[in-house]
Amino acid sequence: MTMQAGTMQAGFAGLNLPDLQLRAGDDILPVTRLAADEDPCTGQAFADIPVASDADVDAIVAAAKAALRDPAWRDLVPLARERLLHRFADAIEADIQRLAALESLDTGKPVAIAEAVDIPAAVAWLRTYAGWPSKLAGRAGTLAATPGGYHVYTRREPIGVVAAITPWNFPIVLAMWKIAPALAAGCTLVLKPAPETPLSALRLAEIAREVGFPPGVFSVATGDGRTGAALAGHPDVAKVAFTGSTATGQAILAASVPAIKRVTLELGGKSPSIICADADLSLAIPQAAMGCFFNTGQVCYAGTRLYVHRSVYDQALEGIAQVGAAQRIGPSGDRASQLGPLISARQHDKVSGFVDRAHRAGIERVGGDIALPEQGHYFAPTVLRDVSPDAEAAREEIFGPVLAATPFDDLDEAIALANDSAYGLAAHVWTRDLATAHSAAARIEAGTVFINCIMVADPAFPFGGFKQSGLGRENGMEVLDAYLEPKSVVVAL
Ligand code: NAD
Repeated sequence: MTMQAGTMQAGFAGLNLPDLQLRAGDDILPVTRLAADEDPCTGQAFADIPVASDADVDAIVAAAKAALRDPAWRDLVPLARERLLHRFADAIEADIQRLAALESLDTGKPVAIAEAVDIPAAVAWLRTYAGWPSKLAGRAGTLAATPGGYHVYTRREPIGVVAAITPWNFPIVLAMWKIAPALAAGCTLVLKPAPETPLSALRLAEIAREVGFPPGVFSVATGDGRTGAALAGHPDVAKVAFTGSTATGQAILAASVPAIKRVTLELGGKSPSIICADADLSLAIPQAAMGCFFNTGQVCYAGTRLYVHRSVYDQALEGIAQVGAAQRIGPSGDRASQLGPLISARQHDKVSGFVDRAHRAGIERVGGDIALPEQGHYFAPTVLRDVSPDAEAAREEIFGPVLAATPFDDLDEAIALANDSAYGLAAHVWTRDLATAHSAAARIEAGTVFINCIMVADPAFPFGGFKQSGLGRENGMEVLDAYLEPKSVVVAL
């Protein structure tokens, strides 16, 4: 079977695709099945990507397991591991334009945004965790309740082979949230990117080989949900780090039970945004708009439920709809584009279905129609008004640029509305009053509360969800524990 490049969007003519082969360590695996990689801006396939079978997953995991015991990785002193991770970051940084073009071609996000946001974020995460290997010491201590003389200390050992399974909205960023701490901890890792967006993962694997990671330390298994399930359920995988939908997270958690696998889950969201009566609207309006519309709404912690104090409700909604209408919507390869399309025809059908059903239920839209490019899976920023808390549009994750707005009269009501959700990933509050800000932050059930700002993600602080938005945390120092097993050593003196 051969892999062929197909029709490429004009903005990416001449772009070199990475090596698309499946590899287990140094071995190239024979391709048994291929799936088309499609450009969301044209709806056209431009490449065929191998789908890893169960046997391929076995071979790739076996190589990752062997790499754990390879002295070239296992015995690397921490500072040498740090240097290798920094070399990886240097090489990614040197390749920023190509990586951004690959990411943008695959996801449909504007190439200027991939260059300015996505690839630099991946580098920032890698550099942050590159500093950790030399600082992962355990501790020595005394016993609390046991008489006699003992010397006790803890070791922090790499957990083993990690399966990282990622979605299509921020492919390289969400992969690096797992790769950087896992490799810093001395684990080996197999990345299963979303079938819609395999290119940046494949390019990362190529760069990892170029900078000298021993074979099997970082591998990529391209494929679909079945490949993901084979990897997550593999007996030699010790830990699964997953970002994706709540339904898939539930399946992964259920599959982890027999072997008691370590699992971290970053799942869906329906994050509330609260605009108080005293908010600075010149800040709140554009932020609440882009907090929902950025990346065409395909952001797990997008603010998609908007609660606005009744005194400023109409003004805020008009302003937000105008910000949406002013976005330049266009192909990913056009440097002037600000918003791209949705990822796929399937996602377009899903988002349109939510908006059509809301319309049929009598929910009104703010503002008029917005012109869209004819080809591709584009969807216009949409503001729905007076959405009741039990309406589908207020409860379900739409994962498109659709904002469900509801007025409120006092803060207690706004917080009760914000907490009335199965999700708890993030929340936003716009107010000029410090007491309102901090009391809202304390009372809202969410992993991150943004006060007068949106979408600040940083490797320095933990990120994750309350309730059905996830399990465990990524980022911060906290994530390192997810890749390390503590071992206590008790020595009788
Ligand atoms: P998805 O759950 O369908 O797929 C995510 C990944 O899981 C893909 O690589 C897919 O191939 C794989 N997969 C599918 N079925 C599997 C199975 N049974 N076992 C193992 N792997 C399997 O999600 P998606 O549609 O790609 O992404 C959108 C979702 O991701 C949204 O719900 C969004 O909120 C969520 N998301 C969450 C975060 C976060 O940090 N919390 C970030 C981005 C996206």
